[in-house]
Amino acid sequence: MKQAILTKPGQIIFREAEKPAVSDNEVLVKIKKIGICGSDIKAYHGKHPYIKCPVIQGHEFSGVVEAKGKAVRNVALRDKVTVRPQLVCGRCYLCRKGDYNICEHLKVIGCQSEGAAQEFLRVNQDLVVRLPKKMSFEEGAMVEPVAVAVHAVLKAESVRRKKVLVLGAGTIGNLTAQVARIMGARSVMITDLSDFRLRIAMECGVDYVVNVKKRKLEEQLEKYFGQDKADIIFECAGEGSTINQAISLARKGTEIIVVGVFGLKPPVDIGLVQDKELRLKGSLMYKAEDYDLAIKLISAGKIKLKPLMSKTFSFQEYPRAYKFIEKSGDKVMKVFITL
Ligand SMILES: [Zn+2]
Ligand SMILES: [Zn+2]
Repeated sequence: MKQAILTKPGQIIFREAEKPAVSDNEVLVKIKKIGICGSDIKAYHGKHPYIKCPVIQGHEFSGVVEAKGKAVRNVALRDKVTVRPQLVCGRCYLCRKGDYNICEHLKVIGCQSEGAAQEFLRVNQDLVVRLPKKMSFEEGAMVEPVAVAVHAVLKAESVRRKKVLVLGAGTIGNLTAQVARIMGARSVMITDLSDFRLRIAMECGVDYVVNVKKRKLEEQLEKYFGQDKADIIFECAGEGSTINQAISLARKGTEIIVVGVFGLKPPVDIGLVQDKELRLKGSLMYKAEDYDLAIKLISAGKIKLKPLMSKTFSFQEYPRAYKFIEKSGDKVMKVFITL
């Protein structure tokens, strides 16, 4: 079988490898679609804090069951599936407590362990999740980012009837805004520097979009949310400017959920967190139940994914897909690899 390996920043090479055999508890997934996400792009440029080369990328993907071990009960041959790409120890304090998404020894498939950028991937049955028959492979590959959004929204106290501000309108910000609306937010505002991304957010039903290059966010907040501004803020950009916006524009006593991945260590006015009694909360990945809910929301047609799907490349074109993303700048959302 073929594998695509990121050997060093900017270089993907193809290699022939043995098709893996499964043991009792394992499933062999024939890969069909892989989504390229922001953290893959950071890793491709050697800028991800936790991903080192060489690596076989691919942590958001879908496929079909090609083979399974004797003890596998949750899927059948040829089932359409996705995988929850979390390798956890099962023994640390957090795993014992059920918070395995922040396991002390967490490894992510496609980041610190080999991922889906190959014809077949072998995984433990616990990580394999069956998809509804009518779900497309593209939708299946997007369960992972939708689950990130579901987990983030559930991290907040409750978004019901709240005014929600989402900073960053990339895939995760867009999906977080959509999930917040679905879960009952009164209204959702999203910001970005890219009109392209903001237009997509509008297509997906987000109530208010603000290009912070052109407008003052504070004024827009008061205009649309009133003088009490936002009730909950989601930071989904991973930038110094956005986390500082969150902290400075937050109403006293409110909650900020940090979803973005920070490549750098931006200076932050932490004094305001104390002075305003802000609750700053991180959100990392998801749990099995977030995956289940993500699949439900997608298959019920509640989340709009089509506007986020930018382009698809063949497996051989993996390097071209990255070139396309680079060239497209802010005019690209989700790019897929098809096998
Ligand atoms: Zn990702
Ligand atoms: Zn653990």
